Amino acid sequence: MRGVRAVTVNPRVANSLSLIEDQPEPAPEEGAILVEALAVGICGTDHEIIAGEYGEAPPGADRLVIGHESLGRVLEDPSGTLQPGDLVAGIVRHPDPVPCPNCAVGEWDMCRNGQYTEHGIKALPGFARDRWRIEPQFAVGLDPALARVGVLLEPTSVVAKAWDHIERIGHRAEWEPQTVLVTGAGPIGLLAALLATQRGLAVHVLDRATSGPKPELVAALGATYHTVAVNDLPFEPDVVVECTGAPTVVIDVMCKAAPTGIVCLAGVSSGGRSIDFDAGALNRALVLENNVVFGSVNANRRHWTMAEQALARADQSWLESLLTRRVPVERYDEAYTAGPGDIKVVLEFAS
Ligand code: BGC
Repeated sequence: MRGVRAVTVNPRVANSLSLIEDQPEPAPEEGAILVEALAVGICGTDHEIIAGEYGEAPPGADRLVIGHESLGRVLEDPSGTLQPGDLVAGIVRHPDPVPCPNCAVGEWDMCRNGQYTEHGIKALPGFARDRWRIEPQFAVGLDPALARVGVLLEPTSVVAKAWDHIERIGHRAEWEPQTVLVTGAGPIGLLAALLATQRGLAVHVLDRATSGPKPELVAALGATYHTVAVNDLPFEPDVVVECTGAPTVVIDVMCKAAPTGIVCLAGVSSGGRSIDFDAGALNRALVLENNVVFGSVNANRRHWTMAEQALARADQSWLESLLTRRVPVERYDEAYTAGPGDIKVVLEFAS
């Protein structure tokens, strides 16, 4: 077996990305299940970590192995939870050690004290290495049919959580949503749109791109693609899933939602930019229409299971077309350099 290669950074140091060869085998304390990496997906959080804006090494370590969107194959599982050869993904977040009331019941996605840890992001080694280990309670088995697209499970878990919470909030009163607006047609927006179509809703996706793969990917879902400003959309959505994090879009969708509308903020802004807006008018719009605006991040085990089912139900060729670039780990620097037309870039390990 070849030595372990790992994609690492020195957290909070810009552009310290490097592939380290001959890393030690993952320590048994990391988990009973030994996994051979197949692929790791790359997202905005990875780019922030590489830019030195985010991320934390495990205690006592200088470097952080990155990669939180995983897909691998089980090599050994003495616990018998999974079988050698099974496809597996690792749950990103682990509960805080206190634990807070939410982490105590497995809702680490709603951690209240911020002491949670996250693989490849915050104090836990990531999955961008040839082999990794995981405890059975954080391992999610995948349908073998998802071998080509299973690396999308982590971002899908994030949108499955968003939809779960939208529905819980919706049921505060009689609720018959019909129209959904998704802002941003990146991987999170497109997967949020997929889950909306699976719920039988009329789906609209708004993005700035007028060319490239996005318009076609949206049309293939049976959804409508828009490039106008939010205020010029000819309808008021019952649900908005905001995936751009762009300040003006965030404010505009809050004002645009229909009476009793629900706005889920799933995009993360970088902050540091002020815009002028009428907070009083926003207050009136929200109060007088019983609207809800909420933020949503991460996912717990229930959401990972929901995500696995959503991916298994989806058109596999549509899912494959979200993976616009597959780059072998030897060329990791290309994978982490954003390219035109990228939707989801995937770093590939074993062939
Ligand atoms: C990941 C989440 C994580 C969040 C904040 C996102 O990119 O998908 O699992 O909680 O970053 O660290």
